[in-house]
Amino acid sequence: MSDFSKKVYIETLGCQMNKSDSERILGILSHFGYEPTQDEHEADFCIVNTCSIRKLSEDKAYSKLGVWGKMKKQKPLKIAICGCVAQQEGENLLKRFPYLDLVFGTHNIYELPDLINKEGRICAVTNTPVKEKEFNIIRTKGLNAWLPIIEGCNNFCSYCIVPYTRGRERSREVEAIINEAKNILKQGYKEITLLGQNVDSYGKDLPDKPTLAYLLSEIEKLEGNFRIRFVTSYPTDITDELIETVKNSTKICECFHIPMQSGSTPILKAMNRRYTREQYAQIVKKIRDNIENVTITSDFIAGFPGETDEDFEQTLSAFDEFELDYSNTAAYSPRPKTPAAKWVDKYVDEEVKKQRLSVLNDKVKEMTLKSNQKYVGKTLEVLVESFKDGKFEGRTRNNKVVHIEADSINIGDFVDVEIQRASTWCLFGSKK
Ligand code: SF4
Repeated sequence: MSDFSKKVYIETLGCQMNKSDSERILGILSHFGYEPTQDEHEADFCIVNTCSIRKLSEDKAYSKLGVWGKMKKQKPLKIAICGCVAQQEGENLLKRFPYLDLVFGTHNIYELPDLINKEGRICAVTNTPVKEKEFNIIRTKGLNAWLPIIEGCNNFCSYCIVPYTRGRERSREVEAIINEAKNILKQGYKEITLLGQNVDSYGKDLPDKPTLAYLLSEIEKLEGNFRIRFVTSYPTDITDELIETVKNSTKICECFHIPMQSGSTPILKAMNRRYTREQYAQIVKKIRDNIENVTITSDFIAGFPGETDEDFEQTLSAFDEFELDYSNTAAYSPRPKTPAAKWVDKYVDEEVKKQRLSVLNDKVKEMTLKSNQKYVGKTLEVLVESFKDGKFEGRTRNNKVVHIEADSINIGDFVDVEIQRASTWCLFGSKK
């Protein structure tokens, strides 16, 4: 690694895949003398890693560029944009933001070493991914390491821009993933989260067709006391083999993140989701029947084009019927290139959309509290992650945050905690 002579600041918006990409970008730049900083004002190079899943997120990225544009008038500063908005907008961004130096797409991260030394303003956005190369990865999330296993998506849900910004599904080779997992463990991480837009599709594009279940069991064989998580799952791609693997494992955590998006079958059809409410019900049942203390979380959209009050009621009732433990929520946001964006005559009124989102969020809170209350009186294994305001904090296998009363425990310890109290967002207990 070179001596650090310059500082790089990266603002990461959006999903875990973007966060993981930012860790890789920082790692690549560390080979070229760039040290990460948390303070944009002391940076020589500012990068915004963008998300285009909602208009709001895209606007946030543009406003960040505006701030840096002003900073550039006061001192020399290199400004770059990458991620999904860069992939989507390409050259247009150089025209729109005259102070922008570099645009690189989701497929061009490994081209960075060439790009940063080139003269002039550059746009590197291709549809073909630049091959992965060996560089440092500067991980930023405490005891948990993200490990991308598959990128892109073939599903083309009618509202989603991901297949256009991340491309078609591409799995990483088993060997590359296992080697990265070994390195992660060598560095002392206690949790590995396998990442992908649709992790259940893992391996379908590889010659030997390794499955997610196979990959999980290979990682489980690695030595050490650690946990494995995986995210995100597509409901009908979850296999019996995967459920069995999680059930029989000691290291794979009992958590499934299975976005349902709507509780109404006609809306699911319009969304081009390949399942009905009944099929989602069967999957949830199968998982719950097989895996004790499993947490099932979801994503829902409020106000998809054509969504009636009745459809929305179906979404609310899905929470109760499937006893969902938590869900991310969002109001529908039309995205360029997607079919649903063209159904303007079916758009739900903005006020109605806002109201539905607020009702949905209240439902999430109600369900999360209910889910947390199930664990009062139980003893759960907690990985101690931090010490804040005089209390230790950690997470259970099924991803509940726990505040722990204890005299002395070490960050990184796995401890048994007796749960005494539950609130909406966390559990409270004492070390046994
Ligand atoms: S499954 Fe649908 S929502 Fe998820 S990334 Fe793929 S296209 Fe987007």
